[in-house]
Amino acid sequence: MASKRKSEDNSVGDKVSSKKSAPFWKNGLMSSMHDPELQVYKDDKVIIIKDKYPKAKYHFLVMPKENIANLKSLKKENVDLLEHMHEKGKETAEKSDAELQFRLGYHAVPSMSHLHLHVISQDFDSPCLKNKKHWNSFNTEYFVDSEEIIKELEQNGKVVKEVTSSQELLKKNLRCHVCKKEMTTIPALKTHIKQHSYKKS
Ligand code: AMP
Ligand code: ZN
Repeated sequence: MASKRKSEDNSVGDKVSSKKSAPFWKNGLMSSMHDPELQVYKDDKVIIIKDKYPKAKYHFLVMPKENIANLKSLKKENVDLLEHMHEKGKETAEKSDAELQFRLGYHAVPSMSHLHLHVISQDFDSPCLKNKKHWNSFNTEYFVDSEEIIKELEQNGKVVKEVTSSQELLKKNLRCHVCKKEMTTIPALKTHIKQHSYKKS
């Protein structure tokens, strides 16, 4: 069982354990952080890796070296760190493809331990994007922009934003993120989104 799980994408909403203690795969980012195959940037504060199951052509995760579990663990003094994560994420996106649109943000309810900022290109062109939960986790309010989180931490000294009915967001009907057309299936959506341009205007 354990060896089978090791290579799986247990990302958002894919509940595979009901045990109270955190399942081992939740800590996968901690080992991937130090994997030279995945690492793309490192400094004294952050490490950036390629997402192991990218949901777009370019998909990175920016992680602090400091042990911060999630958004709820953040304190006012972490504002500088979040700004640094944002800047380095933006630089990595620009180095990958300066023409392409990217979004930087956090999942309201992350599946993996250790704070991680998603840096994801808006083409969503990837075989790893397989289901409605994957799509909705990046294309509904489940995905919270990094700048919004930074602003909230500055104003309140903590991240209090509660995304109501987060599991409902993941079940929403599929909708193109560009023209908002509703689509019935993931294959139809993936064909449809190829017609749009994701270049910066
Ligand atoms: P989140 O829902 O914000 O916790 O997203 C976790 C992200 O980590 C997803 O985009 C997964 O594809 C990615 N992921 C899962 N396991 C690993 C791993 N072992 N190494 C790198 N990325 C991973
Ligand atoms: Zn469209």
